[in-house]
Amino acid sequence: MLIQLQRPGKTETSRNFYLWTIGCQMNTAESTAIGVALRQRGLQQVAAAEQADLVILNGCTVRDSAEQRVQGQLHLLAHRKKSDPDLLVALTGCTVSPDLAEMEHRLPMVDFFFRPGALDHFLSQLEAHEVVGLPLAHEPVMSLEQPVSSYVTVMQGCNKYCTYCIVPFRRGREQSRTIEDVVRDVRAMTSRGVREITLLGQIVDSYGRDLPQRRHLAELLEAVSAVPDLWRLRFMTSHPEYMDQRLIEAVAALPKACEHINLPVQAGDDEVLDRMRRGYTADTFRELAGRIRRTIPGVSIATDIIVGFPGETERQFQHTLDLLADVQCEIVHTACYSPREGTVSATWADDVPNDEKEERRRRVEALQEEIAARQNAALEHSVVEILVESVQSSRRDVLQWRGRTRTNKLVFVPRVEGDGLQGRLVKTRIIKSSPWALQGEIVDVVGTGR
Ligand code: SAH
Ligand code: SF4
Repeated sequence: MLIQLQRPGKTETSRNFYLWTIGCQMNTAESTAIGVALRQRGLQQVAAAEQADLVILNGCTVRDSAEQRVQGQLHLLAHRKKSDPDLLVALTGCTVSPDLAEMEHRLPMVDFFFRPGALDHFLSQLEAHEVVGLPLAHEPVMSLEQPVSSYVTVMQGCNKYCTYCIVPFRRGREQSRTIEDVVRDVRAMTSRGVREITLLGQIVDSYGRDLPQRRHLAELLEAVSAVPDLWRLRFMTSHPEYMDQRLIEAVAALPKACEHINLPVQAGDDEVLDRMRRGYTADTFRELAGRIRRTIPGVSIATDIIVGFPGETERQFQHTLDLLADVQCEIVHTACYSPREGTVSATWADDVPNDEKEERRRRVEALQEEIAARQNAALEHSVVEILVESVQSSRRDVLQWRGRTRTNKLVFVPRVEGDGLQGRLVKTRIIKSSPWALQGEIVDVVGTGR
């Protein structure tokens, strides 16, 4: 039996929840799981916080800018609670520290805290407060709408403790799920129409080391690849120190494994890398990237860069630009260094001024724009296979399909009402390019649809 929320002035069927998510793909995956669990228990997901009896914030604290956005939401909810005392607020994600007593004291507007990934704990709190009942047995899971491309978390936590990073403090130690568990999730998702899966872990290439029977990510990729209705398989984020030849060869050998590797380098200077405690040098990264490109033909590489790390000189920053020019990554995410309380680097002087950090970020982005413009222009007139994900309106308000190549490049193709291309593999000729996306025309529909 479902025990419903009873709120004054509302009908007895009021049981709406709103889910607000920022941060990494892991947060997105966890929010999807939260949404499914609550809908299975009879609550309804709504698109605006104002319509909700329960608001769940899935926050991020990797940089101060993310933390400020979470604080902004909490501030609004605290204000609303004054006139709507029955409103329930839950907080999860890396915003939640292990010191719950301190959090409860500092954030009195929050009714439920739960650590990232601790969905069961949240559900039992909701049951104890009679917000939800047991999962509704008759609620057909199949009816829950699924995107074409989805995430599966294969391991929690991180043991690496890079000196700037808050993640290990919030997500705890590495804990891999078994291959059987992951495959079960993937099967459930493909039965609901998911065609592309991205396996998630903070250092996904260290998957399986902690399991009683030690496993390797290559074995997980093989097992997941065997799921019949899955067409594409990706994984992220890889750490350069753990990316071995066995994994690279598995990606090259498995037809469903996409030619795309997420491999954050963070900096191109050895002294900075050492102080970040990354465990590799700029040259070992160059060598690794070269080996990936030689072993996986046509592969694309994405990376992350932090600019303005404590003590980073102009010369050291220049080494980052040199590395990016050498490796020619397809995608670069750039962040200005942001000290996080509790981390090692937060005890060092944050001595690169903000405007200098911004300037360095602009210089990385300008270089990357040039590189990506050249790479994408080279794709013009070629035919690529895209998986059509969703509809998007263009600048001129024309609806078009949005899809991705196996190398994770965004491609837009024209859409004709009722053509049913969502979830299909489509051969597309690239007719126009920019540094950020490609425009294509449909040559042939390959996939059989959902
Ligand atoms: N596990 C992944 C990424 C985790 S955090 C890895 O090892 O790369 C995601 C990204 O946020 C990082 O790649 C880094 O570029 C950025 N980041 C993490 N901590 C940061 C900080 N204190 N300041 C600025 N950027 C940070
Ligand atoms: Fe953070 Fe480093 Fe772990 Fe990535 S590997 S989550 S950057 S500590």
